[in-house]
Amino acid sequence: MAEKKKIVVVGYGGMGGWHTRNLLESDVCELVGVCDIKEERKAKAIERGIKVYNSIDEVLADESVELVTLAVPNELHEPMAIAAMEAGKNVISEKPVTMSSESLQRMIDASERTGKLFTVHQNRRWDCDYLMMKDLYDSGDIGKVFCIESRYHGSRGIPGDWRTEKEHGGGMMLDWGVHLIDQILGIVKDRKLEKVYCRCDHLLNNEVDDGFKLDLYFEDQLTARVEVCTYNFIALPRFYMAGRGGTAIINDWKDDCHVISCDKWDEDNVTPVVTAAGLTRTMAPRDEKTTTESVIKRPESDVHDFYRNVCAAIDGKETQIVTHAQVMRVMKVMEAAFRSDELGAPVAIDDEIV
Ligand code: NAD
Repeated sequence: MAEKKKIVVVGYGGMGGWHTRNLLESDVCELVGVCDIKEERKAKAIERGIKVYNSIDEVLADESVELVTLAVPNELHEPMAIAAMEAGKNVISEKPVTMSSESLQRMIDASERTGKLFTVHQNRRWDCDYLMMKDLYDSGDIGKVFCIESRYHGSRGIPGDWRTEKEHGGGMMLDWGVHLIDQILGIVKDRKLEKVYCRCDHLLNNEVDDGFKLDLYFEDQLTARVEVCTYNFIALPRFYMAGRGGTAIINDWKDDCHVISCDKWDEDNVTPVVTAAGLTRTMAPRDEKTTTESVIKRPESDVHDFYRNVCAAIDGKETQIVTHAQVMRVMKVMEAAFRSDELGAPVAIDDEIV
């Protein structure tokens, strides 16, 4: 087995703490230390017996460090990633990788120039809800899919820190949109995206979006709705997928996936539904004899596979799972979404499946 890669986590806040806990039990990385500029965070690390670096420059000057994870506010990802690669370190940037495609291109150029690995922590590729929907789409079991809806509905507003400020890359599109778009593009690998239409919410914060509704129009009649809202005291289901031969739903993160497949299209005796003010046969529920209900159980998923892949990619034994081209594609979709919100109109995408 290869020697463990010596790693430092830069930014020991919420997400830095999460990386650190995982890295302390990693089978591929050895946590050398953490870096933060806040005294209280440094004190916390020392209390936990973790070595502290006072600045990114101290980390970059340490020749033993092979890999850094950047878990700092978003506007720092680009300068720190480029400086780290120039100093000979491999780099994992937290999501969103950065705030524009031009900035991302400079990071990719630095990786190509230095030959250092550069990737992004798109950890929600290991979420079970996503994995179930991806497998179902690939299986073709519900026929040709024409609708996917992916939502996170929260009820706490957006965190009142740097995430409320544009200069730090705040807002829910960059925070959660980046995960959900990455997931949709991970599911729909067989159809190009044609255009997007987006409306951002500014319910309390005017500087950045505190939620959004984004529609992604793919070729061959597939629309994916990606929605984040932070003022929902009753949440809509996490994931929904409809195909010509069946429908699937995952209500919450922890839930299995429920599928209803239609085995017999024709139905003889439809009993109309009588509502207070009318009646309908079109919208009447299906006779159970024409459908089958099944449950897809949550799969096993190990987020340590992210670091395992990064370390194997550094050694040239695997290709990196989160590629530059994929990260750029997601960034371009987010840019088109912001543009659509500004224009109040759909925006065409010059897309390539990667
Ligand atoms: P946070 O505010 O909790 O932590 C950021 C830390 O960075 C703070 O402790 C701060 O003192 C430190 N910092 C700021 N400037 C620094 C500098 N120049 N040098 C060293 N340290 C510095 O924020 P967070 O929630 O941990 O978010 C950090 C990053 O992680 C963001 O990019 C965010 O989008 C991402 N994130 C990812 C996920 C995920 O699931 N992938 C979840 C949460 C956050």
